[in-house]
Amino acid sequence: MNKSKELKIAVFCDFDGTVTKPDLGDEIFKVYGKFEPYHSQLREGKLNIRDYWRTVCSELKPGTNAEIIRHFAEQAEVDSYFKDFAEFCKENDIHVSIVSDGFDTYINPVLNKLGLDWLHVYCNRLIFNDGSPPIPVYPYASESCECLCASCKRNSMLNSIDDNTVLVYIGDDYSDYCGAEHSDIVFAKKNLAAYCNEKKIPHYPYSTFFDILRIMKDIVKKKKYKIRHHAKIKRKQAYEAE
Ligand SMILES: [Zn+2]
Repeated sequence: MNKSKELKIAVFCDFDGTVTKPDLGDEIFKVYGKFEPYHSQLREGKLNIRDYWRTVCSELKPGTNAEIIRHFAEQAEVDSYFKDFAEFCKENDIHVSIVSDGFDTYINPVLNKLGLDWLHVYCNRLIFNDGSPPIPVYPYASESCECLCASCKRNSMLNSIDDNTVLVYIGDDYSDYCGAEHSDIVFAKKNLAAYCNEKKIPHYPYSTFFDILRIMKDIVKKKKYKIRHHAKIKRKQAYEAE
C-alpha cells in the first residue's frame, strides 16, 4: 500500500438552515405559496419528496417568478462566519461544495451576494415558463440511496472525490443523513446531531460557522484528518450499489 499519498480535504455543506439561518426554501413556499399540509405529509412519509416539490411548486401564487424569489433570497439572514469559513478553505486549497435538496433559484443569489459564486453547488433546479408554475427538476437524483432527498447528497459527494479525499460534512437536518454517514469528519447540529448520536457517527456539535472555522483551523494546522473506517466501508458499498 502506498502510504506516502497525501490526503486532501473536501468540504460538503448543506444550505438551508446551515448557510442561511432560516430554512429559506421553506420560507419561500410559506410566503409565496402553500406550505401545509404538504410539509407535514412529507415529514410523516405520506408524500415523497418529488411529489412534495411538485405540489408546493404548483401552489405558488401566480406571478411568482425567479426575480421575485431572487429578491426574497437576498434578504435572508446568513451565518455571519460562513464567508470567512469558505475563504479559509479556499486559501488552504480545500474544495467546498454546497449540497442541497433545495433549488438553484434561491441558493445562487445568496452566494452571489456573499461574493461566493465560485462555490460549487449541487442542488435541484426550477424551470420557469411564463405564466405557469415552475417545474422542479432533479439532476442529482439517486435510485440506490435510501435517503428521502430529490437531490442525493451522498451521490453528489461520491462522484466528485477519490480515495485520497477526506470528506468533511456540515449540516443540520434529515436531508443530511446520507451525506454525514459517508463522511470522515462531520459537523452536526439539530436533527443531524441527534441522528449522529443515534447512529454513533462521531461528530463535532456546533452552533455557528464560528465554531466550525475554529475547529477546522486546528484540524488543518495539526493535520488531524484521516479517513474514517466506517465511512470508507459505506462509500465502497455505495459505489457497488450504483
Ligand atoms: Zn442519498
